[in-house]
Amino acid sequence: MSGPKVYGPTGKVEPFLDHGITRHYLSTIPDQQGKIIAEYVWIGGTGQDLRSKSRTLSKMPEKPEDLPHWNYDGSSTGQAPGTDSEVYIIPRAIFRDPFRMGDNILVLCDTYEPPRAGPDGTIEAPKPIPTNSRYACAAVMEKAKDEEPWFGIEQEYTLLNALTKWPLGWPDNGYPAPQGPYYCSAGAGCAIGRDLADVHYKMCLYAGINISGVNAEVMPSQWEYQVGPCLGMDGGDHMWMSRYILYRLAESYNVEVTFDPKPIPGDWNGAGGHVNYSNNATRAAGTGWDAIQAQIAKLEKRHAFHIAQYGEGNERRLTGKHETSSMQDFSWGVANRGCSVRVGRTVPVDKCGYYEDRRPASNLDPYVVCKLLVETTLLM
Ligand code: ADP
Ligand code: MN
Ligand code: MN
Ligand code: MN
Ligand code: MN
Repeated sequence: MSGPKVYGPTGKVEPFLDHGITRHYLSTIPDQQGKIIAEYVWIGGTGQDLRSKSRTLSKMPEKPEDLPHWNYDGSSTGQAPGTDSEVYIIPRAIFRDPFRMGDNILVLCDTYEPPRAGPDGTIEAPKPIPTNSRYACAAVMEKAKDEEPWFGIEQEYTLLNALTKWPLGWPDNGYPAPQGPYYCSAGAGCAIGRDLADVHYKMCLYAGINISGVNAEVMPSQWEYQVGPCLGMDGGDHMWMSRYILYRLAESYNVEVTFDPKPIPGDWNGAGGHVNYSNNATRAAGTGWDAIQAQIAKLEKRHAFHIAQYGEGNERRLTGKHETSSMQDFSWGVANRGCSVRVGRTVPVDKCGYYEDRRPASNLDPYVVCKLLVETTLLM
């Protein structure tokens, strides 16, 4: 990181934003006088944007409940009118901050209407705002907690040139050679953007995110990482914070990350967010395989209901081609990547395990998908 390589929104080189100068100060300022910087992160008004702001704490919190509640200007995030603009945020999960490092933290929050005093002076509990999908997910996880649901989420994403909005490393106004050599590849022109994927991996581990792996994807400049297996709410919490870290890291490379389910139309793989799922019943030795089949039958009945909530633009991806199943039909199979739900080859042998819902798009809201899986398979 050196030299004046940072671009403004117009693509103009902004020499005053020199990473070398930043690094100089960060490495020479000796301490923070014992203070802690907490970066509060929340989901904004599109339900996909991540926002954050920081505050100084005098003591390291041990758990989210030790942290102060806070608020922000919801009129600037599309979540409140200017005349009643405050959105109230409650800390839910703490991670180490891989950008500031040291005694600094990232704090994942969810969003509420502020508590209000009623006419008789009683204080009403804060109400979740419409984009707070975590709240409903938490209620379902609480109901199903004895079943110990685990989630392993595969997050695919595509890197774009921030100036041209075309995939990173692709020829200007053109296409690279057809798909084939890129998946899990090594080599210049094949594995494009590995620096970013790999630094992200290490940052997530440092932060305390349960990231389980990374691979280059089928379309050049597309990557995947997996988070999990995570118990209950950790699935959504760890996934959302891993995305925040990805956006922040990409910002420093001036590379754009897109979670669009089909960033390039045509003969290029879309981007998915497969969710691998298990619970005490599916993991039970001997009886798990029967439980899996019973749960898949329940999923089939609610196919349309799930599909409608599995990511915006997913209809551009779930065509039945490029390792997807058609959006219209529900299907499942052992080791079949053209199905809605795939069961691993070893499951019928071990008679227990997990299964993979391949329908969610890369822009899935993991709180919504994890909630639906548990609701449909365990609470209905
Ligand atoms: P794929 O073969 O579909 O590419 P990946 O290896 O990318 O699968 O992802 C599999 C995910 O499933 C990982 O995140 C892994 O942690 C998760 N996983 C493993 N075992 C379980 C389980 N019992 N329940 C839920 N998720 C699991
Ligand atoms: Mn202000
Ligand atoms: Mn995978
Ligand atoms: Mn993949
Ligand atoms: Mn998969």
